[in-house]
Amino acid sequence: MGKRKKSSRKPAAASAARRREPLDTAFTCLYCHHDKSVTVRLDRKEGIAQLVCRVCDQRYQSKVNHLTEPIDIYSEWIDAADAAQKADQAPRRPTASSSRAVPAAPSVGSDDD
Ligand SMILES: [Zn+2]
Repeated sequence: MGKRKKSSRKPAAASAARRREPLDTAFTCLYCHHDKSVTVRLDRKEGIAQLVCRVCDQRYQSKVNHLTEPIDIYSEWIDAADAAQKADQAPRRPTASSSRAVPAAPSVGSDDD
């Protein structure tokens, strides 16, 4: 058979020596789909996380605690964007006068452990 390509390079494992990582981490943007254009900056002193896409300038801000990782903020952002999109798409019906109490929107999972 032919030669095999050397293509089995493994991505750097997380188990490698513990490096001092910067608090910035890059992710793919939900909106413009650029790879690593989204940066999450955790300011643990202030308790604030800021997510920003340097390509399309999407922004998101959230609170952090000592356990929060950039990926958490990123997934929060995805959830928030998702929820916003759904809310946007929801048909807005004129509110007919009705005596029925409208049930509150289902609480969006914040305790899905
Ligand atoms: Zn973007």
